[in-house]
Amino acid sequence: MSKRDYYEVLDVAKSATVDDIKKSFRSKARKLHPDNKDSGDEKAFKELAEAYEVLTDPQKRELYDKYGHEGINGSSPGFDNFNFQDLAGFGFEDIIEAFLGGNFRQGFGRRGGPEQGSHLKYNLEIEFLEAIFGTTKKVVIDRLEDCPKCEGSGAAAGSKPITCSGCNGMGQVQQVVNSWFGQSVQIIACPQCHGNGTIIEKPCADCKGAGLVKTNKEFEVNVPPGVQSGFKLRLTGGGNKGRKGGSFGDLYILLHVKEHEIFTRDGDNIHLEKAISFPMAALGGEILVPTIEGDTVITIHPGTQSGTVITLRDKGALKLANSQKRGDQYVHLIVKTPEKLSGEQIKLFEELAQISGESLKIDKTVKDTLKHQAKEKKNSADTKNNENSKDESSFFEKIVDVFKHKADS
Ligand SMILES: [Zn+2]
Ligand SMILES: [Zn+2]
Repeated sequence: MSKRDYYEVLDVAKSATVDDIKKSFRSKARKLHPDNKDSGDEKAFKELAEAYEVLTDPQKRELYDKYGHEGINGSSPGFDNFNFQDLAGFGFEDIIEAFLGGNFRQGFGRRGGPEQGSHLKYNLEIEFLEAIFGTTKKVVIDRLEDCPKCEGSGAAAGSKPITCSGCNGMGQVQQVVNSWFGQSVQIIACPQCHGNGTIIEKPCADCKGAGLVKTNKEFEVNVPPGVQSGFKLRLTGGGNKGRKGGSFGDLYILLHVKEHEIFTRDGDNIHLEKAISFPMAALGGEILVPTIEGDTVITIHPGTQSGTVITLRDKGALKLANSQKRGDQYVHLIVKTPEKLSGEQIKLFEELAQISGESLKIDKTVKDTLKHQAKEKKNSADTKNNENSKDESSFFEKIVDVFKHKADS
């Protein structure tokens, strides 16, 4: 019998997105599911499930688009031999959701078996430079492991957990619920065994029947170079042990990078503020600047302004993906105005001001005029005063002259 076109089965266009396909599948699956008394159709449902499986798998969809049903022969098992009796005990909503979650074939098993252990999170604080160069840290985690006394069974020595008679080991039972929407069947955890599928008659004294006990476990965490705050490392199997022989969950290490005394980081680049003196800014010279690998010499040009940024190529942080490459370091120069001056310094600065033609006080007649104007324009706020703006470059040239003059004498 020839198969129907999958796009036709799902009633979507050839260009449909995965979301379109999911949406269509959801509404059709509800209608066609064999548990649906009014419009259920097992054959049609299997056809729908197969179309869904192929069209939501990019590889299979591509093959199907190119070669039709021939293209995916053998690569898609199909649902012809699928037996819905295997799913007894599960509501069809569960089955539809399992489909949409993509775990229909592998993860949709009976309850009561081994359980995957839960994941754990650990906050790890590291130093600024450790984040840049990478490091190895020992962390101790409080996690659940199999109880050594009962080897995880939860039953006291000489006894074994017995299969629950309430649910035949399924861990779940059906319950008829009356609600606004009428009668429906819900799947609930078995009240006799609390969803375990087994009952422990004589619990192990050490773990009280849980099968798991809290244990301190030490891990060595390799922090790669280039990480930043908020970065997560995953240690597979570092989490809690699952019950009934289930596997370990994972351990997520959340990194917090401490601030540095002088450096700040922006991605792979490092920023540093460096103060230079007034004479240095005016005359130029050389200074020592710290980098993450020690000091380096940089040249200050004469007449350097505060806020000037000097870029040190490849002196930044190592890149996370490729630690052969590095960011840059930016040195932000701040010209420091001297605060405490000696008598001699004051004399020199006064001399400098004089040579520059700079008057440090406003003339009394100017102030009087301003007062007079202010009275007249009491209600007007825009009294701009550009009177004393000076040409900065000529000012610096004069500073240079004064210091040179001082050095010569
Ligand atoms: Zn135990
Ligand atoms: Zn039970």
